[in-house]
Parts: sequence; C-alpha cells; structure tokens
Amino acid sequence: MTGIVFDIKRFAIHDGPGIRTSIFFKGCPLSCWWCHNPESKKSDVENLTSKFKGRYFIGWNTTAQELLKEVEKDSAFYKQSNGGITFTGGEPLMQAAFLSESAQLFKSQGFHLCLDTSGYAAPEIFKELSEYFDLFLFDLKLIDDQEHQKYTGVSNKNILKNLEYLVEKNKNIQIRFPLIPNINDQTAQLEKVSHYLSGLHRIKNIDLLPYHKIATGKYEQLKLANKMEKTKEADEEKIENVKLFFEKKGFQVKIGG
Ligand code: SF4
Repeated sequence: MTGIVFDIKRFAIHDGPGIRTSIFFKGCPLSCWWCHNPESKKSDVENLTSKFKGRYFIGWNTTAQELLKEVEKDSAFYKQSNGGITFTGGEPLMQAAFLSESAQLFKSQGFHLCLDTSGYAAPEIFKELSEYFDLFLFDLKLIDDQEHQKYTGVSNKNILKNLEYLVEKNKNIQIRFPLIPNINDQTAQLEKVSHYLSGLHRIKNIDLLPYHKIATGKYEQLKLANKMEKTKEADEEKIENVKLFFEKKGFQVKIGG
C-alpha cells in the first residue's frame, strides 16, 4: 500500500512530548480560512512551477516500510526524551488505510504515537484508528456548527462525536485551540468552548495556538485565495487575556503547541 506525504520533520519539539519525527500526510477535507499548511489541502501529488524554484513537487508516494526506515534514524532520541512519532498534515485520517498500516507497523516497534487531527472522520473509522495512538492532539476550532461550516467548510458534528468518544475511552487528549482574530476569539465563542470542554470533565489542558501570518507567502505561491489577507496577528495582550479567561475557568493553558 502507498500513501502520500508532503513533509517529514525530524527533531520536532512542538508536536507532542519529547523529541519527535512529524510525518505530514497530504490531503485535508477542511478548508479553514486560517490554514498554515495550504499545500496540504489537495490529496494528490502536485507538480508546480515557480519563478524562484523552477519545477517542483508537493508530496510524494511512500510506503509504511519507507517511513519506518526514516523514523528509525532517531530512535535513540525518542528513547532519551520520551518522544516518538506524530502523524499530522493535512488531515492524516483522510488516508485512513495508510495511516492504519503505518501506525500498526510503528506500534509494533514500540514507538510512542501521536495523532494531530481535526477529528474530522466517520465515527466508525475514527474508533478503529484511535486504538493505535498514545496521545491525540485534537484541534477544537468552533462549537457552533453553522460557524464551523462557514469558516472550515464542514460540519463539526462528527468532530465533537469523535472527541467525546476519546473522552469516554479515557484516551490521552491534548486540546489545541487555534485562536483566530474575529472568528473565534470573542467572549461568546470562548464561553462556548469553555462550557463544552468543562462538560467533558477529563479535559484539563488547552494549548492556545495564536493565528500568525507565516503562511501568506505560500498562498501567493500556490495562487490560492487567502481569506485572511487583511487580518492582523493577535497582539500579546489579547493572547494573554484569552489565556487568563480559560485559566479562570479552571484549565491549564499553554501558548503554542
Ligand atoms: S484542518 Fe488543519 S490542515 Fe486542514 S484546512 Fe484546517 S488548518 Fe489546514
């Protein structure tokens, strides 16, 4: 079986505990306005040309065995730091069969596995795949379904259902909340997120991921419409206030991944 990835980052320290290798799966069914990885959106390998790089590809076909060879290079670092492998993207669950094969192979070698996910997948698929991961970095963007559809292109019904399944099964979950100016940073939206997470009881930590404009150049290069073109990055004070907001509600909050 082959799958498509578009990046492999060694020595990653923000994608789960310890030192990790992050594998970026290509393809995402969401279209978040603020996406920092717009090159992940399409699920096939892209052949592009640019005046700076000439002809280049985004993504390549690979196998679980090839990925294993790559991640094994840093086994010693994972052991020393309690790190491991993180599957990210894009949305890794979009290549469910390939993700399943890779995760099972890595698991058989004893690696600690994280899934960095939007949670968007059919609940049956999600349940089956969730067995292989030690930690879920779960993105929660908006609670209101209509707003979720407006800003990400999809409903959040299955996302919330899948998160609730993880809670029910006592899985390790790290919530990641992308803080996006004028989209989910108003008190009303924050209240909804806090209320929802408090109802899940086991969720105590939130990683705040403030919007930044790092991907602007990528949108230009890929000739994609950037709906956030005029949006400014959140200022320090706003970020601190949101941190305080969640802390007052009883959560432990970390800024950044
Ligand atoms: S879920 Fe992540 S990768 Fe997919 S569009 Fe949203 S921000 Fe981008």
